Amino acid sequence: MARLYESRKRILVTGGAGFLGSHLIDRLIEQGHEVICADNLLTGAKRNVEHLHNHPRFEFLRHDVCNPLKIEVDEIYNLACPASPVHYQHNPVLTTKTSVMGALNMLGLAKRLRCRIFQASTSEVYGDPEVHPQREDYWGHVNPIGARACYDEGKRCAETLFFDYRRAHGVDIKVARIFNTYGPRMHPRDGRVVSNFIMQALAGEDLTIYGDGSQTRSFCYCDDLVEGFLRLMESEPGMTGPVNLGNPGEFTMTELARLVLKLTGSRSKVTHLPLPEDDPRQRKPDIALAKTKLGWEPKVPLAEGLARTIDYFRHLG
Ligand code: NAD
Ligand code: UDP
Ligand code: UDP
Repeated sequence: MARLYESRKRILVTGGAGFLGSHLIDRLIEQGHEVICADNLLTGAKRNVEHLHNHPRFEFLRHDVCNPLKIEVDEIYNLACPASPVHYQHNPVLTTKTSVMGALNMLGLAKRLRCRIFQASTSEVYGDPEVHPQREDYWGHVNPIGARACYDEGKRCAETLFFDYRRAHGVDIKVARIFNTYGPRMHPRDGRVVSNFIMQALAGEDLTIYGDGSQTRSFCYCDDLVEGFLRLMESEPGMTGPVNLGNPGEFTMTELARLVLKLTGSRSKVTHLPLPEDDPRQRKPDIALAKTKLGWEPKVPLAEGLARTIDYFRHLG
C-alpha cells in the first residue's frame, strides 16, 4: 500500500525474525511503514523474513537486545525473547537476561526518542493460576525458583520496568499479555504442543501427551493476535495495558490431539509422557478489556487455524 511520506513511520521490531514478529512485520509493511527488524537469530530464522529481502522499506539488523542500540525510530515493538518452554529453558540465564536487559535497553531508547513502545508480555505472568479465567488484575501464582521462572520472572520484571519508565520518565507504553498463539512459521522443533502434535501426526509418529492430557490451554491464531497488537499500539495514550490478548476457547491437550489427528488424517496414536515441572493446569484469558477498549476479539476458529498451520508444516522444506 502506498502511504504518504508524512504518515509513514519508521518502526523497530525486536525479535522480528521470529514467529510472531515476522507476521507483525508483514502487516506493518502492508500498511506502508518502514520496518527495522532487530534479531540475533537465537530462535528465529532469516527464512521468516526472506520474502522481504530487498524490499525498499525493510531492513534486517543482526543485533542482541542485551546490548544498547542507538537508532532513530518512531515506534518500537519489543518481542525479542525465546518463547517456547524448550527454547527458554535451554539457556535459562540468557532468557532472563534477554527479557530484563532487552526491556531496559529498549525503554532507554524509547525514553531518548520519546516514542511509543510495545512489550510482548505473556500469560505466564499468571503462573499456574488459582483464578479462572485470568483477568489482568490477577497478580499470579508463579514459582520463583522453578524451571519456568527464568521466563515468567523475566517477563514480570520487564513489565515492572515498563511501568516504572512510565511513572519516572513518562514513557508511552503498551503492554500485551499474550496467551498461547499458533500458526505458520512456528519453529517446527520448538517443543510447543501445536508444533509437536502436527509434526508427529505428519510423520506418523505417536502424539506425545504430557500427563493425563486434562490440562487446558486457549489457542489464538497468529493473524488475530497481530490485529490485537496493532489496535493496542493505536489506542489512546492512557490505554497502557496490561491487556490480555488470546482466544478464550479452552481445550484439553487430549482434545487438541484428537483434532490434529482428524485434520491431518493421520493414523498416529497417542502416548503419555510425564508432565513437566510447574506445568500450568489450566489457562484461559478473560478478554473483556481488549473487547471494550480495543474492539478486538479473535475470529479464526481453532480447526481453521490448525488447518492453515498443518498446510504450512506439510510444505516445509
Ligand atoms: P520466537 O522464538 O519465534 O521469536 C522470538 C525472536 O526473538 C526470535 O526471532 C529470536 O531469534 C529473537 N531473540 C531472542 N533473543 C534475542 C536477543 N537477545 N536479541 C535479539 N533477538 C532475540 O517466539 P514468538 O512465539 O514469536 O514470541 C515472540 C514474543 O512473544 C516473545 O517475547 C514471547 O515471549 C512472546 N509470547 C509469545 C507467545 C506465543 O504463544 N507464541 C505467548 C506469549 C508471549
Ligand atoms: N539505551 C539504548 N539506546 C538509546 C538510549 C539508551 O540502548 O538510545 C540503553 C542504555 O545503554 C541503557 C538503557 O538503555 O543501558 C537504559 O537507558 P537510560 O537512559 O534509561 O538509563 P541510564 O543509561 O541512565 O542508566
Ligand atoms: N504438551 C504436551 N505434549 C507436547 C508438548 C506440550 O502435552 O508434546 C503440553 C504441555 O505439557 C502443556 C501444554 O501442552 O500442558 C502446552 O504446552 P506448550 O509448551 O505449548 O506451552 P505452555 O503453555 O506450557 O507454555
